[in-house]
Amino acid sequence: MVIFGDYHTHTIYSGGRFNVKHATGTILENAMMAKQKGLKQIAITEHGFSHKLYGVKRKNIDKMRKEIEEAKKTTGIDILLGIEANIISSEGDIDLSEEDIKKLDFIIVGFHNFAKAKSIKEFFKFRLPNMLSLHRKKDIKRNTLALMKAMDKYPIDVVSHPGAHMALDFEMVGKHAIKTNTHLELNGKRICYTQDDVKKLVQMGVMFMANSDAHSAKRVGEVNNGINFMVKYDIPSSLVKNIEQFPHFKNCKR
Ligand SMILES: [Zn+2]
Ligand SMILES: [Zn+2]
Repeated sequence: MVIFGDYHTHTIYSGGRFNVKHATGTILENAMMAKQKGLKQIAITEHGFSHKLYGVKRKNIDKMRKEIEEAKKTTGIDILLGIEANIISSEGDIDLSEEDIKKLDFIIVGFHNFAKAKSIKEFFKFRLPNMLSLHRKKDIKRNTLALMKAMDKYPIDVVSHPGAHMALDFEMVGKHAIKTNTHLELNGKRICYTQDDVKKLVQMGVMFMANSDAHSAKRVGEVNNGINFMVKYDIPSSLVKNIEQFPHFKNCKR
C-alpha cells in the first residue's frame, strides 16, 4: 500500500497570538521527513486565523509560500499550502476570506474549541454547546447543518477529524460530502465514526483521506491510525484518495 501524500501537517507557524509551541517541525523538516518516508506530496495545514491559541498569523501566509518554494527545491517533494480552517458559526462561516482562499492550494475545515466564534450570539449558540460536549439532538442537527452550509459556501476539500469536538450526523454529512466532492478524514489521532457509520459511508461511496495531523516532523507520514481503521472496517482503498493515487483538490491549479 503506497501512501502518495500526507495532507494534514502542522509546523511552528501554528503558534497563535502568543507563539505557543503547538507544533515543532519547520516546513523544511516536515518535507525532509516526507521524503525519507517515501511520500511524493505533503501539505502544510496550520490552524486557521481565528484559533486563539494555535492559529497561524495572516501575515505569515506569503512568507510560508516562499519557504515552501525553497523546501520544494531542496527536497524534491511537492508541497501544498493549505490551512485547517475553523467553522465559526452555525451558518457555516469559516475563518477565511476570498482573498485568503486565493492564496491557498486547498482547504481543510474542522471545529476547534479555541477558535473564536463569529459573534457573541454564535458563541452561545454554536461554540459553547460544543465546548461543553453537549450531544443533544439539537446540537447534532445544528452542527451538521453548519458543516453542510460550509461545504456549500466554500471550496472545502477535506473535513478534518469529523465528529471530534463537534457531534455530527454522519449520514447527512456523507451525502453532502459526495454532492460537494469533499473528503472525510481518517485522522492520525482521532476517528469518530462507528462501524455502522462507516458501513453507510462506504455504501454511499464517500471519499476518505488518511492523514497524520502531525505536530512534529517525525510524525509526518504516520497515517497508520487511518489505515488500521480502513482495514478493520473494510473501507476499500479506492475510496481513500491518498493511497495509490493523488487526490484532486478544488482550488489547486496544478
Ligand atoms: Zn484539528
Ligand atoms: Zn490539525
